[in-house]
Amino acid sequence: MKTRVATTWLGGCSGCHMSILDMDERLFNLADKIELVYGPLTDVKEFPENVDITLVEGSVDNVDNEEKICHVRGRTKILVSLGDCAVTGNVPSMRNQFTKDSVLQRAYVEQATLDKGIPDRMVPLLLPVVRPVHSVVKVDLFVPGCPPSADVIHFALTELLEGRMPNLTSLTRFGK
Ligand code: SF4
Repeated sequence: MKTRVATTWLGGCSGCHMSILDMDERLFNLADKIELVYGPLTDVKEFPENVDITLVEGSVDNVDNEEKICHVRGRTKILVSLGDCAVTGNVPSMRNQFTKDSVLQRAYVEQATLDKGIPDRMVPLLLPVVRPVHSVVKVDLFVPGCPPSADVIHFALTELLEGRMPNLTSLTRFGK
């Protein structure tokens, strides 16, 4: 039986998902062992139950991210923080030195050229501060890097598929 794997995306730039795609032809070998059950690379609308491994890109920035990661955690056996935004907050957390209101004012009023005004619907409410994933839910594996390299992601996944928790300390570093 194939291992059920999902990927998901919170406050991130998609670079970590691009790094997943950078595994190139190795994706075909992984596809023999993995069933991709959810993520931006699928058209599945609802995060499924009984997921073995979920790779999470991005930090927890808004109420939608918070609700989503709690839902994902409840349905996932091994949750992996993929990339510096998930692991530390990284780029999105640069806003933490400002108040939420001043950030919204800057983005939607001061920097806007059209339709100035802070939206009151359709845009999820920002949390007061950006948080790394593990400060909201339990994380089982941390994969630093901005983004982590395809080699590191491949190593981590193949180890997990073999039932081992990978040791990435000598393979990863923050920011690269
Ligand atoms: Fe983008 Fe880097 Fe954050 Fe990944 S860790 S989502 S590549 S900014």
